[in-house]
Amino acid sequence: MKIDKVTQKLVMVAAPSGAGKTTIVRHLLQVLHSQLAFSISATNRQPREYEVDGKDYYFLSTEEFKNKIKNKAFVEWEEVYENAFYGTLQTEVERIWATNKSVIFDVDVKGALNIKRQYPDISLSVFIDPPGINALRERLEKRDTETEHSIERRLKKAAHELQFKSQFDAVVLNDDLEDAKAKAFDVVSGFLNKATA
Ligand code: ADP
Ligand code: 5GP
Repeated sequence: MKIDKVTQKLVMVAAPSGAGKTTIVRHLLQVLHSQLAFSISATNRQPREYEVDGKDYYFLSTEEFKNKIKNKAFVEWEEVYENAFYGTLQTEVERIWATNKSVIFDVDVKGALNIKRQYPDISLSVFIDPPGINALRERLEKRDTETEHSIERRLKKAAHELQFKSQFDAVVLNDDLEDAKAKAFDVVSGFLNKATA
């Protein structure tokens, strides 16, 4: 990526869909708001009812997304599900660093490890670990945002994603939510407050 003037740090939070990543990232943004800002990804998927363009995601058409790939506008991007593209725009990281904050990313497992490879010294990768596949199904059903087909697609991918857990800097088990929030806070604030070489 072209960003060469690194001023702050990067925190990537990844997990199988339904593990509680969004809930935990929102919590971290609340308790660490003076140090952290959320990297708004671009995607070509349809917005959910409660999602706001430019806040949750930059919602693009498939053509717009592919043009940005061609123009090398992304720090990283993935086709996370078939025909569902997600990516981090270079301008987004620059926007946040310009405010003197570190960046927190809600990305898939591959995206998190990709950013880690690019910035090994200033980044922290955190894996939110669900207590089991059944818990994922229950949480996705309860969240009521996915079709049955989409839930099956996400669960199938989850089994694969769990295999990458050991490559992460930190693993936070999200069984009891309050315990998970506290553990995530300890790990991330420790990293942000640590001096880098
Ligand atoms: P993700 O971003 O990983 O897909 P979400 O944060 O949207 O997951 O969480 C999925 C659903 O599970 C949400 O409805 C959320 O309120 C719920 N949830 C999150 N953590 C827990 C937990 N520890 N126990 C039970 N439900 C949870
Ligand atoms: P959802 O459709 O549930 O919002 O997101 C699906 C998956 O795409 C999640 O695992 C989420 O973290 C991931 N994702 C969101 N934005 C990005 C991104 O910019 N890059 C990558 N690689 N994955 C992303």
